[in-house]
Amino acid sequence: MEQLRFLTPENIEQIRIDFGTPTFVYDEDTLRTNAKSVLNFPNAFGLYPRYAMKSAPTGAILRIFNSEGLGIDASSEFEVERAVRAGYGTESISMSTQEFPENFRYWVQDGVHVNLCSLNQIHKFGIWGKGESIGLRFNPGMGSGGTNRTNVGGPSSSFGIWKEDLEEAKKLCEHYHLKVNRIHTHIGSGSDPEVWQKVAGMSLDIVRKFPTVKSLNLGGGYKVARMPGEQATDLQEIGTPVRKLFEDFEKETGRKLKLEIEPGTYLLAHACSLVTTVQDVTSTGPSGYRFLKLNAGMTEILRPSLYGAQHPIVIIPEDSQAKPKENIEQVVVGHCCESGDLLTPAPNEPESLAPRLLPKGEIGDSCIIEGVGAYCSSMSAKNYNSFPEAAEVLKKSDGSLSLIRKRQTFEQIIENEVAP
Ligand SMILES: *Cc1c(COP(=O)(O)O)cnc(C)c1O
Repeated sequence: MEQLRFLTPENIEQIRIDFGTPTFVYDEDTLRTNAKSVLNFPNAFGLYPRYAMKSAPTGAILRIFNSEGLGIDASSEFEVERAVRAGYGTESISMSTQEFPENFRYWVQDGVHVNLCSLNQIHKFGIWGKGESIGLRFNPGMGSGGTNRTNVGGPSSSFGIWKEDLEEAKKLCEHYHLKVNRIHTHIGSGSDPEVWQKVAGMSLDIVRKFPTVKSLNLGGGYKVARMPGEQATDLQEIGTPVRKLFEDFEKETGRKLKLEIEPGTYLLAHACSLVTTVQDVTSTGPSGYRFLKLNAGMTEILRPSLYGAQHPIVIIPEDSQAKPKENIEQVVVGHCCESGDLLTPAPNEPESLAPRLLPKGEIGDSCIIEGVGAYCSSMSAKNYNSFPEAAEVLKKSDGSLSLIRKRQTFEQIIENEVAP
């Protein structure tokens, strides 16, 4: 049976009373432990790990990683600004964007590093930035991901400069006198270790073509095991052969490359639980389903609706003295008027219901969704059905619970509306 990861029944009681539900609860100990294991990633000639902040950009989380010594991978200028406001120095921020900001030059002058991710981005940068140092993001022609929606390498992916445009990219950089000091590849979330190593080799081949490159950034994409039976990536196991590739590269070329990695999921996935309340129970009869309706849903966690992603679900009876409930098959749904608002889809099939064996839930019980640190709070269907954004709380290392983001108010939902 699925179990609570770091919350205690007493924590849940306190959250219901002090903060209400739904509330995301992040665990400081898990965040710090994960940061330390990322800082221990095998490397030959130096390592700089960055946090891919799009997975969970709340300031309190950024400050914890800053104090552990991680840099930042930002995917928009707004993320850069958020990191700076949370106390990051611009020199520790690297920006790789799908939409290159118009005012990139202000950030670059301030010390932010950029990875140019398309030929057009090289043009845009080059017209302004003669003589500047830059990074280039390539699509090495191969990808990997938990589903085709999290795969961001290969011919079906728009991310990065296509491998066959390498010569053109190089010519453009020469034309604009840009100094390429970093190569970047990131091929997807939930990558297989074998694919990851293969892409590391392909990325080194790209580095060979750029003699000025000093560091190789291999992105993120390390798998975590949210559900029983899933296989997590072991960073030591995946990194050791890559260290060897860097050493061989040095023997062959004399170049000591620095390694950069930028995990999001790995750092965050297990570091957060969503505390919700079962607010209704319905049934469609003996040949149908028993539905548990939460006071949360796609407004907090979109991944099941989007990818058919699986998250552990734990039911805690409202009456703590009650004897353990029998396990029965139930479908857990969200609070939006939307059939896709489903927390128990079939794996990788967001359209299909997959009833789950859970203790029989009743109205008023707590329902905890586990493994929601990455791409949940930051990627929700915010304000759909006009539900306010959930609160966020940090469980600190001393065990206390502290608010880090207030629940949105009704006024905030409509504050930008104006009468015509
Ligand atoms: C999203 C992203 C990451 C993080 O990916 P995870 O799968 O969360 O580790 C790293 N690098 C870039 C460029 C990204 O867009």
